[in-house]
Amino acid sequence: AKRRGNNNFEWFTQDINDKVERHVLMRHEIQEALKCKQFSLVYQPIFDQNQKICSVEALIRWNHPVQGVISPYEFITLAEHTGQIIPMGRWVIEQVCQDMLQLQAMDIPTVSVNLSPLQLSRNRFADDIKGLLAEYQIEARQIVLEVTENVLVSDLTNASSILNELHKQGFRIAIDDFGTGYSSLRYLQELPIDILKIDRSFVCDVGEGKKYEGITRAMLAVAQELQLQVVAEGVETEEQLTFLKTQDCEFYQGYLLALPMAIDDLARFCEQKMQA
Ligand code: C2E
Ligand code: CA
Ligand code: CA
Ligand code: CA
Repeated sequence: AKRRGNNNFEWFTQDINDKVERHVLMRHEIQEALKCKQFSLVYQPIFDQNQKICSVEALIRWNHPVQGVISPYEFITLAEHTGQIIPMGRWVIEQVCQDMLQLQAMDIPTVSVNLSPLQLSRNRFADDIKGLLAEYQIEARQIVLEVTENVLVSDLTNASSILNELHKQGFRIAIDDFGTGYSSLRYLQELPIDILKIDRSFVCDVGEGKKYEGITRAMLAVAQELQLQVVAEGVETEEQLTFLKTQDCEFYQGYLLALPMAIDDLARFCEQKMQA
Protein backbone atom coordinates (compact mmCIF):
# COMPACT_ATOMS: atom_id res chain seq x y z
CA ALA A 1 0.00 0.00 0.00
CA LYS A 2 1.11 3.56 -0.55
CA ARG A 3 2.30 5.63 2.34
CA ARG A 4 -0.49 7.64 3.79
CA GLY A 5 1.66 10.75 4.11
CA ASN A 6 2.14 10.85 0.40
CA ASN A 7 -1.50 10.55 -0.29
CA ASN A 8 -2.26 13.31 2.12
CA PHE A 9 0.22 15.55 0.41
CA GLU A 10 -1.34 14.79 -2.92
CA TRP A 11 -4.78 15.60 -1.61
CA PHE A 12 -3.47 18.83 -0.17
CA THR A 13 -1.96 20.08 -3.42
CA GLN A 14 -4.99 18.87 -5.31
CA ASP A 15 -7.18 21.03 -3.09
CA ILE A 16 -5.01 24.08 -3.60
CA ASN A 17 -4.99 23.58 -7.34
CA ASP A 18 -8.73 23.31 -7.43
CA LYS A 19 -9.10 26.46 -5.42
CA VAL A 20 -6.66 28.41 -7.57
CA GLU A 21 -8.28 27.11 -10.71
CA ARG A 22 -11.72 27.94 -9.43
CA HIS A 23 -10.57 31.47 -8.67
CA VAL A 24 -8.94 31.93 -12.05
CA LEU A 25 -12.15 30.72 -13.63
CA MET A 26 -14.33 32.92 -11.46
CA ARG A 27 -12.17 35.93 -12.23
CA HIS A 28 -12.62 35.33 -15.91
CA GLU A 29 -16.35 34.77 -15.48
CA ILE A 30 -16.76 38.00 -13.51
CA GLN A 31 -15.01 39.77 -16.38
CA GLU A 32 -17.56 38.25 -18.75
CA ALA A 33 -20.41 39.09 -16.42
CA LEU A 34 -19.42 42.75 -16.34
CA LYS A 35 -19.14 42.83 -20.11
CA CYS A 36 -22.34 40.89 -20.82
CA LYS A 37 -24.50 42.58 -18.19
CA GLN A 38 -25.16 39.48 -16.09
CA PHE A 39 -25.45 41.46 -12.87
CA SER A 40 -28.69 42.92 -11.60
CA LEU A 41 -29.93 44.66 -8.49
CA VAL A 42 -32.68 43.73 -6.09
CA TYR A 43 -34.04 46.16 -3.54
CA GLN A 44 -35.05 45.30 0.01
CA PRO A 45 -37.36 47.78 1.75
CA ILE A 46 -36.54 49.30 5.12
CA PHE A 47 -39.61 50.22 7.17
CA ASP A 48 -40.32 52.74 9.89
CA GLN A 49 -42.49 52.07 12.95
CA ASN A 50 -45.66 52.82 10.98
CA GLN A 51 -44.77 50.16 8.38
CA LYS A 52 -44.01 52.85 5.83
CA ILE A 53 -41.09 52.20 3.47
CA CYS A 54 -38.51 54.88 4.22
CA SER A 55 -35.64 53.47 2.20
CA VAL A 56 -34.45 50.46 0.20
CA GLU A 57 -31.12 48.67 0.19
CA ALA A 58 -29.62 47.78 -3.19
CA LEU A 59 -28.25 44.21 -3.26
CA ILE A 60 -26.34 42.77 -6.19
CA ARG A 61 -27.23 39.50 -7.95
CA TRP A 62 -25.30 37.55 -10.57
CA ASN A 63 -27.56 35.89 -13.10
CA HIS A 64 -25.11 33.30 -14.39
CA PRO A 65 -26.07 31.71 -17.72
CA VAL A 66 -25.28 28.19 -16.45
CA GLN A 67 -25.25 28.34 -12.64
CA GLY A 68 -28.35 30.48 -12.24
CA VAL A 69 -28.52 33.22 -9.62
CA ILE A 70 -25.31 33.42 -7.58
CA SER A 71 -25.34 35.06 -4.15
CA PRO A 72 -22.98 37.97 -3.43
CA TYR A 73 -21.56 35.95 -0.53
CA GLU A 74 -19.99 33.77 -3.25
CA PHE A 75 -18.33 36.44 -5.36
CA ILE A 76 -17.88 39.74 -3.50
CA THR A 77 -14.83 38.53 -1.54
CA LEU A 78 -13.18 37.25 -4.70
CA ALA A 79 -14.00 40.47 -6.55
CA GLU A 80 -12.33 42.36 -3.71
CA HIS A 81 -9.18 40.24 -4.07
CA THR A 82 -8.99 40.71 -7.83
CA GLY A 83 -9.91 44.39 -7.72
CA GLN A 84 -12.97 43.71 -9.86
CA ILE A 85 -15.08 45.15 -7.06
CA ILE A 86 -14.10 48.57 -8.43
CA PRO A 87 -15.91 48.31 -11.81
CA MET A 88 -18.60 46.16 -10.16
CA GLY A 89 -19.20 48.76 -7.44
CA ARG A 90 -19.32 51.53 -10.00
CA TRP A 91 -21.90 49.56 -11.98
CA VAL A 92 -24.03 49.23 -8.81
CA ILE A 93 -24.02 52.97 -8.21
CA GLU A 94 -24.78 53.76 -11.84
CA GLN A 95 -27.67 51.26 -11.83
CA VAL A 96 -29.06 52.86 -8.67
CA CYS A 97 -28.86 56.24 -10.41
CA GLN A 98 -30.77 54.84 -13.38
CA ASP A 99 -33.45 53.41 -11.07
CA MET A 100 -33.79 56.51 -8.94
CA LEU A 101 -36.65 58.16 -10.85
CA GLN A 102 -38.71 55.00 -10.63
CA LEU A 103 -37.97 54.70 -6.90
CA GLN A 104 -38.98 58.30 -6.33
CA ALA A 105 -42.26 57.60 -8.10
CA MET A 106 -42.83 54.91 -5.44
CA ASP A 107 -42.32 57.62 -2.82
CA ILE A 108 -39.05 56.06 -1.68
CA PRO A 109 -36.73 58.92 -0.76
CA THR A 110 -33.36 57.20 -0.26
CA VAL A 111 -31.40 54.18 -1.46
CA SER A 112 -28.67 52.41 0.49
CA VAL A 113 -25.61 51.15 -1.34
CA ASN A 114 -23.02 48.72 0.07
CA LEU A 115 -19.41 49.79 -0.27
CA SER A 116 -16.42 47.52 0.08
CA PRO A 117 -13.32 48.86 1.87
CA LEU A 118 -11.34 48.80 -1.38
CA GLN A 119 -13.79 51.14 -3.11
CA LEU A 120 -13.57 53.60 -0.27
CA SER A 121 -9.78 53.48 -0.08
CA ARG A 122 -9.40 54.77 -3.63
CA ASN A 123 -8.61 58.44 -3.88
CA ARG A 124 -10.86 58.84 -6.85
CA PHE A 125 -13.95 57.43 -5.19
CA ALA A 126 -15.48 60.73 -4.09
CA ASP A 127 -14.93 62.29 -7.53
CA ASP A 128 -16.24 59.21 -9.33
CA ILE A 129 -19.48 59.13 -7.42
CA LYS A 130 -19.90 62.88 -7.69
CA GLY A 131 -19.55 62.57 -11.45
CA LEU A 132 -22.20 59.87 -11.68
CA LEU A 133 -24.64 61.87 -9.59
CA ALA A 134 -24.16 64.93 -11.75
CA GLU A 135 -24.70 62.88 -14.90
CA TYR A 136 -28.04 61.54 -13.64
CA GLN A 137 -29.02 64.70 -11.76
CA ILE A 138 -29.27 62.96 -8.45
CA GLU A 139 -28.58 64.56 -5.12
CA ALA A 140 -26.20 63.05 -2.60
CA ARG A 141 -28.78 63.14 0.17
CA GLN A 142 -30.79 60.52 -1.74
CA ILE A 143 -28.00 58.00 -1.18
CA VAL A 144 -26.95 56.19 1.98
CA LEU A 145 -23.49 54.66 1.89
CA GLU A 146 -23.19 51.47 3.96
CA VAL A 147 -19.74 50.62 5.26
CA THR A 148 -18.66 48.01 7.80
CA GLU A 149 -16.50 48.68 10.83
CA ASN A 150 -13.61 46.88 9.09
CA VAL A 151 -13.21 49.90 6.86
CA LEU A 152 -12.35 51.96 9.90
CA VAL A 153 -10.02 49.46 11.52
CA SER A 154 -7.70 49.02 8.55
CA ASP A 155 -7.04 52.71 7.99
CA LEU A 156 -8.94 55.05 10.28
CA THR A 157 -7.20 58.25 9.14
CA ASN A 158 -7.95 57.66 5.49
CA ALA A 159 -11.48 56.39 6.13
CA SER A 160 -12.15 59.39 8.30
CA SER A 161 -11.06 61.92 5.68
CA ILE A 162 -13.03 60.31 2.84
CA LEU A 163 -16.16 59.82 4.96
CA ASN A 164 -15.98 63.44 6.05
CA GLU A 165 -15.72 64.56 2.45
CA LEU A 166 -18.66 62.38 1.37
CA HIS A 167 -20.74 63.54 4.31
CA LYS A 168 -19.99 67.16 3.42
CA GLN A 169 -21.25 66.42 -0.08
CA GLY A 170 -24.55 65.30 1.47
CA PHE A 171 -24.29 61.51 1.48
CA ARG A 172 -25.61 59.79 4.58
CA ILE A 173 -23.32 57.23 6.18
CA ALA A 174 -24.46 53.96 7.74
CA ILE A 175 -22.41 51.43 9.70
CA ASP A 176 -23.39 48.00 8.39
CA ASP A 177 -23.35 44.79 10.49
CA PHE A 178 -22.90 46.95 13.60
CA GLY A 179 -21.59 44.99 16.57
CA THR A 180 -19.67 42.34 14.64
CA GLY A 181 -16.41 44.24 14.05
CA TYR A 182 -13.41 44.56 16.31
CA SER A 183 -13.13 48.31 16.51
CA SER A 184 -13.65 50.38 19.63
CA LEU A 185 -16.77 52.51 19.85
CA ARG A 186 -14.78 55.71 19.81
CA TYR A 187 -15.20 56.12 16.06
CA LEU A 188 -18.94 56.66 16.54
CA GLN A 189 -18.18 60.00 18.12
CA GLU A 190 -15.39 60.98 15.74
CA LEU A 191 -16.81 60.04 12.36
CA PRO A 192 -19.77 61.56 10.49
CA ILE A 193 -22.11 58.60 11.00
CA ASP A 194 -25.87 58.91 10.64
CA ILE A 195 -27.18 55.36 10.90
CA LEU A 196 -26.32 52.10 12.68
CA LYS A 197 -27.53 48.83 11.24
CA ILE A 198 -27.69 46.22 13.99
CA ASP A 199 -26.41 42.95 12.60
CA ARG A 200 -28.80 40.08 12.00
CA SER A 201 -26.87 37.81 14.39
CA PHE A 202 -28.12 39.93 17.31
CA VAL A 203 -31.60 40.56 15.96
CA CYS A 204 -32.29 36.87 15.38
CA ASP A 205 -31.77 36.20 19.08
CA VAL A 206 -33.81 38.87 20.82
CA GLY A 207 -37.04 38.58 22.76
CA GLU A 208 -37.85 37.76 26.35
CA GLY A 209 -34.93 35.98 27.99
CA LYS A 210 -32.96 35.45 24.79
CA LYS A 211 -29.19 35.69 24.65
CA TYR A 212 -28.70 38.97 22.80
CA GLU A 213 -31.54 40.94 24.31
CA GLY A 214 -29.20 42.87 26.62
CA ILE A 215 -26.62 43.67 23.96
CA THR A 216 -29.29 44.83 21.52
CA ARG A 217 -30.80 47.05 24.19
CA ALA A 218 -27.35 48.50 24.90
CA MET A 219 -26.70 49.18 21.20
CA LEU A 220 -30.02 50.99 20.95
CA ALA A 221 -29.10 53.07 24.01
CA VAL A 222 -25.73 54.03 22.52
CA ALA A 223 -27.43 55.07 19.28
CA GLN A 224 -30.00 57.14 21.13
CA GLU A 225 -27.32 58.84 23.20
CA LEU A 226 -25.36 59.77 20.06
CA GLN A 227 -28.52 60.67 18.13
CA LEU A 228 -27.97 58.07 15.45
CA GLN A 229 -30.78 56.33 13.61
CA VAL A 230 -30.97 52.56 14.01
CA VAL A 231 -32.01 49.90 11.53
CA ALA A 232 -32.54 46.37 12.83
CA GLU A 233 -31.37 43.92 10.15
CA GLY A 234 -32.75 40.45 9.49
CA VAL A 235 -36.08 40.72 11.29
CA GLU A 236 -37.72 37.35 10.69
CA THR A 237 -40.36 36.91 13.39
CA GLU A 238 -43.18 38.86 15.00
CA GLU A 239 -41.54 38.24 18.36
CA GLN A 240 -38.36 40.00 17.23
CA LEU A 241 -40.34 42.90 15.76
CA THR A 242 -42.39 43.33 18.93
CA PHE A 243 -39.29 43.30 21.11
CA LEU A 244 -37.54 45.88 18.93
CA LYS A 245 -40.58 48.13 18.93
CA THR A 246 -40.82 48.08 22.71
CA GLN A 247 -37.13 49.08 22.77
CA ASP A 248 -37.87 52.10 20.56
CA CYS A 249 -35.93 50.84 17.57
CA GLU A 250 -36.97 53.11 14.69
CA PHE A 251 -36.33 51.14 11.50
CA TYR A 252 -36.64 47.51 10.39
CA GLN A 253 -35.46 45.32 7.56
CA GLY A 254 -35.98 41.59 7.14
CA TYR A 255 -37.81 38.73 5.51
CA LEU A 256 -40.78 39.17 7.88
CA LEU A 257 -41.50 42.54 6.30
CA ALA A 258 -40.25 42.17 2.73
CA LEU A 259 -37.77 40.17 0.66
CA PRO A 260 -35.27 41.80 -1.67
CA MET A 261 -37.11 42.38 -4.98
CA ALA A 262 -36.45 43.33 -8.58
CA ILE A 263 -37.54 46.92 -9.14
CA ASP A 264 -40.76 46.03 -11.00
CA ASP A 265 -41.83 43.71 -8.16
CA LEU A 266 -41.02 46.49 -5.73
CA ALA A 267 -43.32 48.83 -7.66
CA ARG A 268 -46.15 46.27 -7.42
CA PHE A 269 -45.40 45.74 -3.73
CA CYS A 270 -45.70 49.47 -3.07
CA GLU A 271 -48.92 49.72 -5.05
CA GLN A 272 -50.52 46.86 -3.15
CA LYS A 273 -49.45 48.43 0.10
CA MET A 274 -51.12 51.72 -0.86
CA GLN A 275 -54.38 49.93 -1.62
CA ALA A 276 -54.30 47.86 1.56
P1 C2E B 1 -25.62 42.89 3.96
O1 C2E B 1 -25.19 44.22 3.46
O2 C2E B 1 -25.58 42.68 5.43
O3 C2E B 1 -27.09 42.69 3.37
C1 C2E B 1 -28.11 42.00 4.04
C2 C2E B 1 -28.18 40.56 3.59
O4 C2E B 1 -29.11 39.85 4.42
C3 C2E B 1 -28.70 40.38 2.17
O5 C2E B 1 -28.10 39.21 1.64
C4 C2E B 1 -30.20 40.15 2.40
O6 C2E B 1 -30.83 39.47 1.33
C5 C2E B 1 -30.15 39.31 3.64
N1 C2E B 1 -31.38 39.41 4.45
C6 C2E B 1 -32.28 40.40 4.50
N2 C2E B 1 -33.27 40.14 5.39
C7 C2E B 1 -32.98 38.93 5.92
C8 C2E B 1 -33.63 38.10 6.91
O7 C2E B 1 -34.67 38.42 7.47
N3 C2E B 1 -33.02 36.92 7.20
C9 C2E B 1 -31.86 36.52 6.60
N4 C2E B 1 -31.36 35.33 6.94
N5 C2E B 1 -31.22 37.28 5.67
C10 C2E B 1 -31.78 38.47 5.34
P2 C2E B 1 -27.47 39.19 0.18
O8 C2E B 1 -28.31 40.01 -0.76
O9 C2E B 1 -27.21 37.76 -0.16
O10 C2E B 1 -26.10 39.97 0.36
C11 C2E B 1 -25.09 39.45 1.15
C12 C2E B 1 -23.99 40.43 1.42
O11 C2E B 1 -23.27 40.70 0.20
C13 C2E B 1 -24.49 41.78 1.90
O12 C2E B 1 -24.73 41.72 3.29
C14 C2E B 1 -23.32 42.66 1.54
O13 C2E B 1 -22.31 42.57 2.51
C15 C2E B 1 -22.83 42.02 0.25
N6 C2E B 1 -23.37 42.78 -0.89
C16 C2E B 1 -24.58 42.68 -1.51
N7 C2E B 1 -24.68 43.56 -2.51
C17 C2E B 1 -23.50 44.24 -2.56
C18 C2E B 1 -22.97 45.29 -3.38
O14 C2E B 1 -23.63 45.83 -4.30
N8 C2E B 1 -21.70 45.72 -3.10
C19 C2E B 1 -20.96 45.19 -2.08
N9 C2E B 1 -19.72 45.68 -1.85
N10 C2E B 1 -21.43 44.22 -1.29
C20 C2E B 1 -22.68 43.75 -1.52
CA1 CA C 1 -25.71 46.27 3.87
CA1 CA D 1 -25.76 44.05 7.15
CA1 CA E 1 -22.72 41.68 5.75
